[in-house]
Amino acid sequence: MRKSGDKIYLKTPHDIEMMRHSAILLGKAHGEVAKYVKEGVATKVLDKVAYEFIHDHKATPSFLNYNGFPATLCMSINEVVVHGIPGKYELKSGDVVSIDCGVFFNGYHADSAYTYPIGEISEEVKALLTATKESLYVGIKEFKKGNRTGDIGFAIQRYAEQRGYGVVRELVGHGVGKLLHESPEVPNYGRRRKGDKLRNGMVLAIEPMINLGKENVVQEPDGWTIRTEDKKPSAHYEHTVALIDNKVEILTTFKYIEESLKANQLLVI
Ligand code: MG
Ligand code: MG
Repeated sequence: MRKSGDKIYLKTPHDIEMMRHSAILLGKAHGEVAKYVKEGVATKVLDKVAYEFIHDHKATPSFLNYNGFPATLCMSINEVVVHGIPGKYELKSGDVVSIDCGVFFNGYHADSAYTYPIGEISEEVKALLTATKESLYVGIKEFKKGNRTGDIGFAIQRYAEQRGYGVVRELVGHGVGKLLHESPEVPNYGRRRKGDKLRNGMVLAIEPMINLGKENVVQEPDGWTIRTEDKKPSAHYEHTVALIDNKVEILTTFKYIEESLKANQLLVI
């Protein structure tokens, strides 16, 4: 998604402490949803699980009504890259589903996404998921003082393209804080030493969107759903990450998701 404003808001230690709470709550919301991610479940059922969990914890879903988005979760299946709208569709073996969620809690947003395999998926799609998740951490490693946003994008792009994947250009990571989408933009492609300087107090949502096939995407007539043009699958992993005292801290967590998957004896990517 595009940023909401041009100013880069550097966070104080207080802001970051508050954002840790938002991020942990988001991790737990994802973990609650993950308990129900399996064959036969309708995507709108998962959306309701997320809404109720967030609501019960005195927080607000960041995406619901954001520019008119009609749901708590973005649920993007197979060739859908991002911004899929939950509905009647029931997950089936061989699908991959990217679940993106944001929470607004005590004045601060957190934003995170995870792509799940459903039942048996092909080795080639499993490899895409693994590489996309790894590319997120490759990008996070470049979030350091003295680097620029282009260093993050360069690292993710190189990692993905070396493996023959397409890197989505139209959608980018972003600053996050009191607004869901703040500056700077954090593309998943780029050139070293280009882009905005990375500084202490920055909080970014880093979110590679990587396609099995070509990088090109199109928007469906619903005005939201973004899918690959070649209809090959896509994966998306996202963390909210802070730079504090020259150290990177991953504020969001996949821990609760992965605990739920293990409890259901499902594959952890
Ligand atoms: Mg997101
Ligand atoms: Mg995001």
